[in-house]
Amino acid sequence: MQNRLTDPFELKKYISISESEEKDFDRLEKFFSFGVTPYYLSLIEKENPNCPIRLQVVPRNDELQHAEYEKLDPLAEDENMPVKGLTHRYPDRALWYLSHHCAVFCRFCTRKRKVGSSFETPISEDRENALSYLRSHSEIKEVILSGGDPLSLSDDRLIEIIRSLKNISHINHIRIHTRYPVTLPFRITKEFSEKLKEFFPIFLVTHFNHSRECTDDAKKAIENLVKHGGVIVLNQSVLLKGINDSIDELAKLNYSLVNMGVKPYYLHQCDEVFGSKHFKVSIEKGIELMKQLRGFHSGITIPNYVIDLTGGGGKIPLPTDYLKKTDTLSYEFENFKGKKFNILK
Ligand code: SF4
Repeated sequence: MQNRLTDPFELKKYISISESEEKDFDRLEKFFSFGVTPYYLSLIEKENPNCPIRLQVVPRNDELQHAEYEKLDPLAEDENMPVKGLTHRYPDRALWYLSHHCAVFCRFCTRKRKVGSSFETPISEDRENALSYLRSHSEIKEVILSGGDPLSLSDDRLIEIIRSLKNISHINHIRIHTRYPVTLPFRITKEFSEKLKEFFPIFLVTHFNHSRECTDDAKKAIENLVKHGGVIVLNQSVLLKGINDSIDELAKLNYSLVNMGVKPYYLHQCDEVFGSKHFKVSIEKGIELMKQLRGFHSGITIPNYVIDLTGGGGKIPLPTDYLKKTDTLSYEFENFKGKKFNILK
């Protein structure tokens, strides 16, 4: 973390940066910070302007274009915040933002309005208030630790928080959302993983978007979590134009994840956050890609394609429509090869 690159102008020491890219770096910084670890930077193909790793972290002029439908807080998380740093939208789940720091600042981030800002980092009083809220709401069964990245906290602080949550009898399980296995896998040490074992089951949802992120170092991080921590590891990817919006790449990514011991959980339609239009893939294309995955590839490798509705509507699955017709006697289905089958009611 100490060796992170936080000045985009320094990028040209490591990868080729054009003058036109560089000219807006100052303006782009005002909208969203820049930051990348040496590890993640090393995954970038130096001379390839379309490298899928580069596209995720190097600021682009396109981010200055704001489409009419884009929002600063597309998921209305701040509107559904009963106490600072905790969103309670779904009846039995709460999302708790523990840190607004990340190893890498992803250019498509939904929370770019606050990620990287030291003013937004919760202090101990905020954490206490959030815990009191969770204690007094017995309908909450799952707490999702998020951010920024909750693994930006020290092991001790994180374990203390998990222990406090485990002591609340109505909380059924805890989920951690983190991109560290992708952007700084060395954060996931054997020692840290062993500390998690006590709290089994811990679900950890990480965020790989491209098969090139599935390196030996990432695999080691996952192995630590699974073997030493008994952690159940899932992945959510975002469908991103020019990065993973092809059937070959999605299949490769999903198989690489399963090979590392990670279950592909969600494929997200990109949230409509300010300056993200250039990442957007149409829903029609997303549905078509999902149709080309399902049936042709192992079910374990297939994520759910979902959209989080702008305005705070919540997450819904995007249909792939295998049920074609229904009448009083039967259902008509179409299989992955386009062949029709009738099933009696
Ligand atoms: S790691 Fe997550 S929270 Fe942090 S910048 Fe990337 S997408 Fe945003």
